[in-house]
Amino acid sequence: MDINEHSLYSRYTLPMLLVKYIVTLFLTRSFTKRSAIWLMKAAIKNNINNITRILNGIYFGGETLADVKKSIEFLAHSNISSVLDYAVEDEQCEISFDHAVTSILRAIDLASQDINIPYVVIKPSALGSVDLYQARLTSQPSFEFYLPLWERLLGRYETIFSYAQEKSIPVMIDAEQSWIQPPVNEIAIENMIKYNNKQTIVTLTLQCYRRDSYSLISLLNNIAMKHGIVIGIKLVRGAYLEEEMKFNAHPEKLFFTTQLETDRNYNTIVDFIFDNISNFAPFFATHNQVSISKVLNHPLSSSKKIWLAQLYGVGDYISIDAVKRGAQVCKYLPYGPFKKSFPYLVRRIEENAISQDTFCNDNLFLKKEIKSRLIRSSK
Ligand SMILES: Cc1cc2nc3c(=O)[nH]c(=O)nc-3n(C[C@H](O)[C@H](O)[C@H](O)COP(=O)(O)OP(=O)(O)OC[C@H]3O[C@@H](n4cnc5c(N)ncnc54)[C@H](O)[C@@H]3O)c2cc1C
Repeated sequence: MDINEHSLYSRYTLPMLLVKYIVTLFLTRSFTKRSAIWLMKAAIKNNINNITRILNGIYFGGETLADVKKSIEFLAHSNISSVLDYAVEDEQCEISFDHAVTSILRAIDLASQDINIPYVVIKPSALGSVDLYQARLTSQPSFEFYLPLWERLLGRYETIFSYAQEKSIPVMIDAEQSWIQPPVNEIAIENMIKYNNKQTIVTLTLQCYRRDSYSLISLLNNIAMKHGIVIGIKLVRGAYLEEEMKFNAHPEKLFFTTQLETDRNYNTIVDFIFDNISNFAPFFATHNQVSISKVLNHPLSSSKKIWLAQLYGVGDYISIDAVKRGAQVCKYLPYGPFKKSFPYLVRRIEENAISQDTFCNDNLFLKKEIKSRLIRSSK
């Protein structure tokens, strides 16, 4: 693939490219990756803001919506849309949950004025406490104590979805750990039935490393037919495997234990969605070459109903290639207060959520870009 100054890499200055090159190089091997994580944590602890700010600029859209606008415009030059992701999670107090709602409503406003923002994202743990979702999941006798908080949480989702419907902006609910996911699915399904009748407003995320993901997609297909709605579905492999392995008594019962099984399941569900495409508005979120080829080789791949997505700053070569092949592509664009977003980034890297292959390929293309810049500047 031809990487030149018009490509996505042109948003980086040479020093930024070098930092990104070194970071991806560190992330291609387990030992160096551990060292990189250690360094990043030390940088956070010691407030070494210069390095962390450069990294933030590479993997984050900015601290505020105003910053993010520049990143959106830049991606749009390469025909790539942006999905805004307010990167704050695991909050604990009602004030910050209400604040997250305000940020999401602002993001919906921004999306309604900018065709380059096809979706807005909700992170369930930014809207309510993990304890609350867990209490709902286990239906503890003491759940009555949580009821007022639960009602407030449902109210937050309601506020977001009704505003999104008013503005015609689809909202995507991220998937998180297994101990909160079932109540999130429950909320998503109830709201899909309510809001997805004219346009697909609510989009649920399906994690294919979960053994029950195939039965969930079949259930969603039945719900679509029964209620005459189109189900918004973001398909991912799943980002919390390490944590799940650590904190579940029998993780093998809930999750696949090899990448091969997760890969097979992802690709089987891609087929299922295409076979039932009238019931789904799919958003395939992946950097995996086999899954991407599977989507791109499908005759419907360039339909306006289908999206392919990668993370901002990750797999840029994939996004460019998919655009060239006629797909609708977007980048997940995290933003938020610097002090909260950088630890979020480090945690994502630590969880091994992105495969070393993706970082190896990123590193290869970065090397090419750096070389060609140096050659150009020496002429
Ligand atoms: C736009 C976008 C949005 C995302 N949103 C979410 C979200 O809401 N929730 C979420 O959980 N994740 C989300 N992710 C992350 C996603 O789940 C993956 O962790 C990440 O994309 C890497 O998977 P991949 O499909 O790109 O392919 P690869 O990098 O090829 O696959 C790596 C993935 O394979 C799986 N895997 C690896 N080893 C094993 C093993 N031993 N056993 C079983 N499975 C294994 C894991 O899921 C791992 O993340 C998102 C990713 C993108 C691109």
